Amino acid sequence: MSEKKLPVSDERMLSLANELGTPFHLYDEKAILDNARNFQKLFSWAPEFVNFFAIKACPNPSIISRLAKLGFGGDCSSLPELYMAKACGIPGEKIMFTSNDTPDEEFAEAYRLGAILNLDDITHIKAVKRACGKLPKTLCFRYNPGPDRTGNAIIGNPVEAKYGVTKDQLLDCYRIAKEEGVEHFGLHTMVASNELEGSYIVETARQLFTLVVKIHNELGIDIEFIDLGGGIGIPYRLEQEKMDLEFVSNEIHKLYDEMISSIGLSLKITFECGRMVTGPYGYLVSRVRHVTHKYKDYVGLDACMSDLMRPALYGAYHHITVVGKEGKAHDHKYDVTGSLCENNDKFAVDRMLPEIERGDVLVLHDTGAHGYAMGFNYNAKLKHAEYLLLENGDVKLIRRAETYDDYVATLRFEGAEVKI
Ligand SMILES: *Cc1c(COP(=O)(O)O)cnc(C)c1O
Repeated sequence: MSEKKLPVSDERMLSLANELGTPFHLYDEKAILDNARNFQKLFSWAPEFVNFFAIKACPNPSIISRLAKLGFGGDCSSLPELYMAKACGIPGEKIMFTSNDTPDEEFAEAYRLGAILNLDDITHIKAVKRACGKLPKTLCFRYNPGPDRTGNAIIGNPVEAKYGVTKDQLLDCYRIAKEEGVEHFGLHTMVASNELEGSYIVETARQLFTLVVKIHNELGIDIEFIDLGGGIGIPYRLEQEKMDLEFVSNEIHKLYDEMISSIGLSLKITFECGRMVTGPYGYLVSRVRHVTHKYKDYVGLDACMSDLMRPALYGAYHHITVVGKEGKAHDHKYDVTGSLCENNDKFAVDRMLPEIERGDVLVLHDTGAHGYAMGFNYNAKLKHAEYLLLENGDVKLIRRAETYDDYVATLRFEGAEVKI
């Protein structure tokens, strides 16, 4: 069982909703940083352990720079993410550039910024050389295990995935790169998404260790770091349990001793987790606009799927707290909806909740990763603000809400300056 609590008292949440205006995102600084430090502590046995925080999960500099101060790196998939990671104080050697179908200009710029290029294909060795004039001193390759791995439910079967180099291509990648003068190597894979079963991650480590040994034996190349990817899940549902990271760390440590240290290798362990770092510590706070009774009973919020897309996109579950009413019987069945002209704009379907009235404040849990970031402007919905609940209890604006001017800022038409 996981618990779903608010980061502040009900009274404070209601007054924040009044003062700040809904909808908004609230992130809990202390919880994020404690969790990040715990992740590092659990892997402190591993030389130079680092988590490259997946910028796409929560691209807000106020959060990224706090993680950077703790020693986190950044995993970037585009140039704007790279620039943001740099601006947040992450040094190049702690930035992974894990892109796919990458344009030459992005390879060139990532190289210029000193990021680690994580190549998605064997042909990209040539592409990087063309783009940068030469190969960087350090290169990493993204491995796709294909039929050797079933892939978890969300990310799908690796054979069907467009990412990474195959088992047959992998050794050639390192051999060619070495011949071309590359001196330092990494090995990356990402085969799970939102996975809660720790043994899955341990198995990923075992597969990468096996490859490290194979590459050492067959090519005489000593891989310097492995990147186990992101994909550590969080318990969105009450009945789910957190991944047992202590178990994962201990098991990986044992394998490391057996497979890596025993033959005199030294290997850095890295991850690029986003969701498990910030996910549980973000909250989408919204207010009920209408309660309607049609063929079903509906609760219409002032947030919609453009503020949090996961339920509409994957049928994802987000727990909902009705602020101040949790003590009451959850004896009403509602669909909780937004205002978009799309019938799948529903945060919850057939959810049992206390009786809801217009004006109630509802908090959607676990929206701290892949939440605001996936937002969009369809139906000209303007994006909401983000706030950080500081360790000292103050609440700080870390991204203002969009305005009509923002919405039309990229348009070119006569009268665009007119405000309605
Ligand atoms: C999305 C992504 C991540 C982060 O995944 P989480 O589920 O947030 O941990 C890490 N690496 C790559 C390559 C990704 O595409």
